[in-house]
Amino acid sequence: MLVWVQYVEFPPPTTEYGEEWPTERESPEASKVPVKTILRFGIDIDGTISRAPKHFKRLINALLDSGNLVYIVTARDAGRREETEQFLYSMGIRYTRLVMKPIDWPYSVPDFKVAVVKEKDLHMLIDDEEANCWAVEQRTRALAAHMLPAPPLLEEFRDLAERLEAVKHKASSD
Ligand SMILES: [Mg+2]
Repeated sequence: MLVWVQYVEFPPPTTEYGEEWPTERESPEASKVPVKTILRFGIDIDGTISRAPKHFKRLINALLDSGNLVYIVTARDAGRREETEQFLYSMGIRYTRLVMKPIDWPYSVPDFKVAVVKEKDLHMLIDDEEANCWAVEQRTRALAAHMLPAPPLLEEFRDLAERLEAVKHKASSD
């Protein structure tokens, strides 16, 4: 992609010889291909992906397809790897790497999440545990995104939700 930058200043600046600077010229970067920054995301399983698997599948596919890295970071211990891989596969969840807590991990779960965020130099961790989010925010450069339970449906949307449900029900029985 070429980037064309227009330098326009008013009034046009002049050189010490009284000549006008060109008001429009190609930027020195114009012939270079912009460098893409690869983002590294960490996403928890239990209470996070498991709470909204369809949404995470869509998000993760978009992240991976645009060249980013997605680490699934779970405090399930490494002895459960096969079961966990199977679970993610059944949900259609792709990932760059599945990082599990070592069986002999001597410290706390927040310590484990912090260690992974630092080792993989993640930009963001999405997790449902407050303690993990706080630990990551305070002890790493990453941003922690706290997965909250869906709030209860507001009264004013109840009617709309029921109508949507009826439409979905009709569509599935047609
Ligand atoms: Mg969790």
